[in-house]
Amino acid sequence: MIIDTHVHMSDSKFNFDREIVIQKAFELGVEIIFEIACQTDYWDKALRLSKLDNIFISFGIHPNYTSKVLAKDYDKLESLAQNKKCIAIGEIGLDYHYDCSVQSINIQKKSFVKQLNIARKYNKPVIIHCRDAYDDMINFLEEYKCIPKGVIHCFSGTLKQAQMLIRSGFLLGIDGPLTYKNSLNLKQIILRTDISKLLVETDCPYIAPQKYRGKRNEPSYIIEVLKEIASIKNLSFNEVVDVTTQNAIKLFKINFS
Ligand SMILES: [Zn+2]
Repeated sequence: MIIDTHVHMSDSKFNFDREIVIQKAFELGVEIIFEIACQTDYWDKALRLSKLDNIFISFGIHPNYTSKVLAKDYDKLESLAQNKKCIAIGEIGLDYHYDCSVQSINIQKKSFVKQLNIARKYNKPVIIHCRDAYDDMINFLEEYKCIPKGVIHCFSGTLKQAQMLIRSGFLLGIDGPLTYKNSLNLKQIILRTDISKLLVETDCPYIAPQKYRGKRNEPSYIIEVLKEIASIKNLSFNEVVDVTTQNAIKLFKINFS
C-alpha cells in the first residue's frame, strides 16, 4: 500500500481532470492521499475532496501566505483541526526565499507559533515547510518547548541539519528532486539515514520527478521516488513501500474505520 503524504489536488492546475488524476493514482497502487490545504482559500475545496474515502487532509497556513491572515482564520483552523479527516496541521513553517526582511520573518514566526499551539492543543502532528531557513528553523524548534511530532516536508538541508531534525523527533519528507541527476547531496543523506525516518511525497502539481521533469506532477509519480530510494539503499521496491507507509500510518495515526 502506497501513501502519497503530500499533494495539492485543490490546485487550479487540476481543475479540468482532478477526479481522473486521483482515480489513476488509485489504479496504479497509491491507496491513500494526504491533501495539504495550506492556503485559507483551499480549506473548503479540501473539505469537499475529503468526502472521498482514501483522502485525508492537513490544514494550515503556508509561511508565504501568513501576512494576509486574519484572526478569524485561526479560529477556523481550530475547528478544522477537529474534523475527523484532519490528520495534521501544515504545511507551516519558515520560507526566506522570496522575502527575508525582518518584518516578514516576524510575521512568519508569529503565525508558526500560533499553528504549533493549535497542533499541540488537538494532538496533531505537523507538516513543516522550510526553505532557505534551516538553521533558523532548528534554533526556533529548540527554543519552542514540546514541539509536536511531524515531518520536514521536501527536505533540502544538509546531512547535519537532517540529523538534528531527526533528533528533535521529525521525519524527512522525500520528493521528486531526489531523482534529479544533480541531487548528490540528498542522495547521500538518504543513503545515511535510516529508512524508519523517511516519508515519501510528491508535492504535486509541483516538482515532478526526473522522468516527468517540467510537467505537472501527479500522485501516481510517487512510484519514481520510491524506486529511487530503493536503488540508493539497495532495498526492494516493496520493502521501501512497506516501511515508508508504516512510518506514515504511525506518525499520522491513520484510522481506516
Ligand atoms: Zn506542498
